[in-house]
Amino acid sequence: MENNELLYNLQKYDIALKSAGHELDLLVKQKDEYESGVKNIENEIALCEQKIKARSAESVKLEKDAEFIETQIKKINERFLLIKTEKELSKYNAELAKLNSDKSQVEEKNLLMMEKQEKASAKLKKLKDEHGRKKIECSEKISDIQEKMNALNEEISKLKKHRGEFASGIPASAIEAYSKLAAAKNGIAVALVSKKICSGCHLSISDNTLNQVKFRNALVCCPNCQRIIYLE
Ligand SMILES: [Zn+2]
Repeated sequence: MENNELLYNLQKYDIALKSAGHELDLLVKQKDEYESGVKNIENEIALCEQKIKARSAESVKLEKDAEFIETQIKKINERFLLIKTEKELSKYNAELAKLNSDKSQVEEKNLLMMEKQEKASAKLKKLKDEHGRKKIECSEKISDIQEKMNALNEEISKLKKHRGEFASGIPASAIEAYSKLAAAKNGIAVALVSKKICSGCHLSISDNTLNQVKFRNALVCCPNCQRIIYLE
């Protein structure tokens, strides 16, 4: 085989490797999407639990506040019988009114908190159910994807091995020229020429150039796109 034919066949391995690599990237992306779908619900659950915990602590504090106010009210009531003057009575009434209003404020706050807590608990339950469902659904899909990835990885390593073996039969200088061109030409370094048309740039190749390909031993490139020419 001439060098250009060898390189053309080497290119077939590289195209197959590139497409397998692309397919693998897509699978990795799909797997990530499923995994992050589950992870997002887990984060939401953690956030919800955190809020519930914080509200519980707040509720305990409010209950203590209410108890404290209650004791204050009792103390004030004990003083009621000792009231002698109009002034003392009005002071008593003012203090009691203030305490009662504080108490009802605290109780109202706590009630609101409990309502929120109930909603949060319902949301948490919903999230946990959804998480359970999604986890089962995703784990099936993920294991499917993983299976495909394993098969693809196996195929890729086989391709790499065969490419390596095939490349070892090609002169190093030809491989070097091919690699540079492949990097510059998006992986297509060797262009098949059929009916005098270069498949790389779709322009016609002169008879003079075609004769060079036929009779010269060195690699000949398309004058227009610079790809290595291979005649069918
Ligand atoms: Zn060309």
